Amino acid sequence: MRLLEFEGKRLLQRYGIPVPTGSVWPDIPDIGGRPVVVKAQVREGGRGKRGGVRFVEGLAQVPAVAEELLATRLGQSRVEQVYVEERLEVGQELYVAMTLDRDRRAPVLLASPSGGLDVEDAAADVVRLPIDPLLGLRPSAVGYVLKTIGLTGEMSERVGSTIGKLHQAYVAEDAELLEINPLVVTRSGHVVAADARVVLDDNARFRHPDWPSDVHDGTAFERAVARYGAVGVDINPEGNAVVITSGAGLMMATLDRLGFGGVTLRAAIDLGGTVFRESRLIGDIVREALRLQPDVVFFNAFFQLASCRRLAEGIRAGLEAEAYGGRVVARLAGSDVAEARKVLQQLTILEDFEQASRVVVELAVGKPG
Ligand code: GDP
Ligand code: MN
Repeated sequence: MRLLEFEGKRLLQRYGIPVPTGSVWPDIPDIGGRPVVVKAQVREGGRGKRGGVRFVEGLAQVPAVAEELLATRLGQSRVEQVYVEERLEVGQELYVAMTLDRDRRAPVLLASPSGGLDVEDAAADVVRLPIDPLLGLRPSAVGYVLKTIGLTGEMSERVGSTIGKLHQAYVAEDAELLEINPLVVTRSGHVVAADARVVLDDNARFRHPDWPSDVHDGTAFERAVARYGAVGVDINPEGNAVVITSGAGLMMATLDRLGFGGVTLRAAIDLGGTVFRESRLIGDIVREALRLQPDVVFFNAFFQLASCRRLAEGIRAGLEAEAYGGRVVARLAGSDVAEARKVLQQLTILEDFEQASRVVVELAVGKPG
């Protein structure tokens, strides 16, 4: 899960790393008459180069710039939020990061005296220090890194302390990446994280009940489906059929079969493990599909362990919750099919994949498949 910059900065701040005073627009930070940076919040790097980081002289200019940023796209992303913070007086820009070195199977500390640029451009200057996961970050190793990037005296101590906190945060938060680029040394000698790129390890979610659910990525439909624990994929806004199955293999087979028949898909949902949950939850997922109002919704299920009756109840709940003008084709095979028929009396339930696919093709394309 990748955090937005301001979420990342709040995380770093919890570990004692100084960050600029800032707030999420339309809140205004308490920074008096000082100069301001207005920053687009997107989950992609390189915002500076794309015009997503704007410097203005004071808070009075913020509303116009913030609204302008919110109306733009940056790379692949719509600007979700805008962060407003005090502008730092930059003395020096450093680069520090912690990430996982998969080859060495250990965390690695990265540091460079040339922050602010793309790291790729400064690769020659980057010091890499693998960290033994059992021994942790040894002061002598940090000292070596600081010396190699040319820091001495008090600056070296301050940056060293920041690196220590970064390492603590990396371990405690189950991070995959914590990157501060640039780590600014201000003209008055303070060390401040001017940017934060944070990627947390989704596999560690069970250890972090406080993490926000990862509903940020994807389209509105994909996020809605993800919220219920299934996987939705928006395929083509022009498409007129939605496929709902359980399991990647059956999904691929279904998409292939319909594709051969000339069907253009609007979206697909893999119910995955939700088929074992309450039918009410399945109903919520079905409703998200019906909301797209495709010409056809095709349920294709072949259950051994899960119950077709429960899926049928979910389909019924979805149909009751959403006024849907198209057609539903249900191929249900495996356990509890007879009971599923009783639940869905208004539909013809087919058991044969090929036969059901032909019906879907005919409905979606208008000619026999
Ligand atoms: P990125 O392009 O997405 O990595 O966005 P950054 O937050 O790193 O901003 C891009 C560049 O703007 C940085 O590398 C800095 O050089 C500069 N910058 C960011 N924040 C400040 C600030 O508070 N003061 C000054 N003077 N420059 C800043
Ligand atoms: Mn940056």
